[in-house]
Amino acid sequence: MSAMLLNKEKWTEFTGKLSGKKVMAPVRQGDRVRLAVIPEGEAPSLDFDNTLVPPKAVVFPQTETLYRYRLGQMEIETPQLDEEVVLLGVRPCDARAMNLVERLFRWDVDDPYYLKRRELTTVVGLACNEPGLNCFCPSVGGGPASTEGLDLLMVDLGESYYLEALTDKGKALLDGAQDLLEEAGEAAREQREQVVKEAEGKIKRSVETAGIPEGLPGLWEHPLWQQTAAPCLGCGTCTYLCPTCHCFDIQDEVEGFEARRCRMWDSCMFEEYTRHTSGHNPRPTRRERTRNRINHKYNYFVQKFNVIACVGCGRCINYCPVNIDLIDILRQVKEAL
Ligand code: SF4
Ligand code: SF4
Repeated sequence: MSAMLLNKEKWTEFTGKLSGKKVMAPVRQGDRVRLAVIPEGEAPSLDFDNTLVPPKAVVFPQTETLYRYRLGQMEIETPQLDEEVVLLGVRPCDARAMNLVERLFRWDVDDPYYLKRRELTTVVGLACNEPGLNCFCPSVGGGPASTEGLDLLMVDLGESYYLEALTDKGKALLDGAQDLLEEAGEAAREQREQVVKEAEGKIKRSVETAGIPEGLPGLWEHPLWQQTAAPCLGCGTCTYLCPTCHCFDIQDEVEGFEARRCRMWDSCMFEEYTRHTSGHNPRPTRRERTRNRINHKYNYFVQKFNVIACVGCGRCINYCPVNIDLIDILRQVKEAL
């Protein structure tokens, strides 16, 4: 599919072509940016680092109703999932993360809720011209213009966006806006390459991940877990904001005879997460829980799906209240191997 150029002055008209769909984009609120629905025909500002909560939350909501029922009756009512969503300005790491999470929701049984939402969602990515302070996506197989999980990639060339359709959904978006676009020529292509190359050069943090998945089992009793976990508060921020974390709990909420079964995010950094009904807890302290967090992403997920379950977005580093730094932990792991 050939690449197109969209002059930024036509950006509002471009988003106006998406009428009939729920359009979500990054919206600034104070010093935070979150994904929110934008009014029809309104263009979002794409001058942002990354959203606080990853777009994973659109396809895997923090709380969702699986079905409703009445006590004493056999009928259940499942939610209608038929709303088409367009996500604008998704960072490439977060789009990759949606693909990683999908592997879990396709494993053993297909999860109809996740997969239906994913099918109804068109993901329009925005390459990172100015990567964040703690971004390290190239260390884990990504990059500031990686395309995995995206339907369309936009690269900011200053006066215009360079648009590359990557799937039929992305092509359909471009086809519907042909009158606003012009074909990208050789000069635009070269500028795109230059912008991405410069962005790659701006990524300051990295870690050599080779050998970590194979080496982690041998470090099970290593003192680094105790040292690393010592300042941890067990707040769960690192997991709640992580675009690849996918642990959930299922509970029933009952009011009178009306009830609903809900699924909500959970966190392996919480003490209750693994506590058995007997009171026994196989991960009784933060040492075991921190060890599990790292092993899940860099060992167990690799064993099961052959890919590291971390996209290097840096959120867990940026927002940990006690400055626990994933890259430092991984470097300690490397040194201990
Ligand atoms: S572990 Fe941290 S850096 Fe990796 S994807 Fe999750 S939040 Fe981002
Ligand atoms: S964000 Fe930091 S303090 Fe909170 S659970 Fe994660 S590592 Fe511990």
